[in-house]
Amino acid sequence: MIFDVQELTHLFPTFKGAGKDKIAVSSIMTDTRKAAPQSLFVPIVGESFDAHTFAGEAIKQGAVAALWQEDQPLPALIPTDFPIFYVTDTTKALQDLASWYLEKVDPIVIGVTGSNGKTTTKDMTAAVLGAKFNTHKTAGNFNNHIGLPLTVLAMQPDTEAVVLEMGMDRAGEISVLSHIARPDHAIITNIGESHIENLGTREAIAAAKLEITDGLAEDGCLIIDADEPLLDHVKTRAGVIGCGFGPSSDYKAEITAMTDDASSFQLMEEAYELPMTGRHNVKNASFVIALAKRLGLTREEIQQGFQQMQMSAMRFEKHQGHKGSLIINDAYNASPTSMKAMIEVVRQLTSKRKKVLILGDMYELGEKSEELHAGVAEAVDEKIDAVFTIGVHSEKISEAASSRYPDMEVKHFKEKQQAGHHIRPLLTADTVVLMKASRGMKLEDMLPDLVE
Ligand code: ATP
Ligand code: MG
Repeated sequence: MIFDVQELTHLFPTFKGAGKDKIAVSSIMTDTRKAAPQSLFVPIVGESFDAHTFAGEAIKQGAVAALWQEDQPLPALIPTDFPIFYVTDTTKALQDLASWYLEKVDPIVIGVTGSNGKTTTKDMTAAVLGAKFNTHKTAGNFNNHIGLPLTVLAMQPDTEAVVLEMGMDRAGEISVLSHIARPDHAIITNIGESHIENLGTREAIAAAKLEITDGLAEDGCLIIDADEPLLDHVKTRAGVIGCGFGPSSDYKAEITAMTDDASSFQLMEEAYELPMTGRHNVKNASFVIALAKRLGLTREEIQQGFQQMQMSAMRFEKHQGHKGSLIINDAYNASPTSMKAMIEVVRQLTSKRKKVLILGDMYELGEKSEELHAGVAEAVDEKIDAVFTIGVHSEKISEAASSRYPDMEVKHFKEKQQAGHHIRPLLTADTVVLMKASRGMKLEDMLPDLVE
């Protein structure tokens, strides 16, 4: 059980129906395609849909009460005694419900934002805090004004720590999420170029990420990338902890070894092993350590947490490919920063494999899209054997790569299928392939062509 319907009366005073005092709610239902016994139906009104029309379905699927937007007619098929709370706006009501439930359960709340690495850092934070606290986290990428409240409301009443990913497309959105969640502590993983189309400049992106402090507890800490000059102006603020590789870091990480699957590093004179490769992941780990130390975890507990990490899908997901090749599917999403970071990881893989990049379009880059695509080629060097690009904008990556390295095997394709047919025969036991593109490209559709 998460709460009694009775408890909602003070939040939503306008009630219609019967049996309010006897009903317990165990989950929230927004999608009526899935059964949810003992649920509270929250019909969200979107741009192209209005879930109020599915009220009958919601009851069949197990809803025992509902929120209802005042301006929506109540269909005759809803029994007159069905418990309904009238609200002005169901989305806002869902957010208020989440804030109320957070206050009731009262866990330590951690907010994670940034242009890249939110999901990774969220998963890592939850794994580490899980070594000491009963921890709940955002499932997958449920990081917006609806996903975040739903994450909160899926939390069990005995939760001691909750790690919430906060995503945005435009200014103001992180502020809303921060006000809903009122984090005790916050992490900004990095400032990149994602959504620059809406925000205009990297400075504006930094300001939008800093909105995470709008609802931050007064004695809470803000953990940031100390190597990012755009965040220099907040470093001197009380409660700010900078993590990075540079000299101005409060928590300075030093990489001591890196293999294809793991990284070893030193932080505050303590040694850590991370079961992940890549400099950016060591940085993500440094944020997590700074937070965990603040919450009283020992090096041993933190290390144990790293070992327990469960990554969300399509992040450095390894597949045994055709002819024994290695396929790394990192196609969850891409931006110039994250694409370059992943190319860097592939460049540094220690095995003597032929390194092949399959890169697709990156969306929402606005006017600078061509330039930013071409800029990805800066991460490519002689350690990479072949670059294949797919789509429309990514042709700029190919053009820039072949002009820098005329002897490199570089080819652009309009279609994934064409590319798959071209690349499959090139795979050998000695090949490693990285796949990366924006979500909308669905680059993983190529996997059947590349995998055994
Ligand atoms: P989304 O906006 O799609 O939710 P996200 O911020 O949750 O993305 P992740 O899914 O964790 O990001 O990681 C996406 C990619 O970003 C990773 O595969 C990796 O290439 C890159 N990345 C991860 N951490 C960092 C970092 N600290 N700095 C730069 N790039 C990073
Ligand atoms: Mg994410």
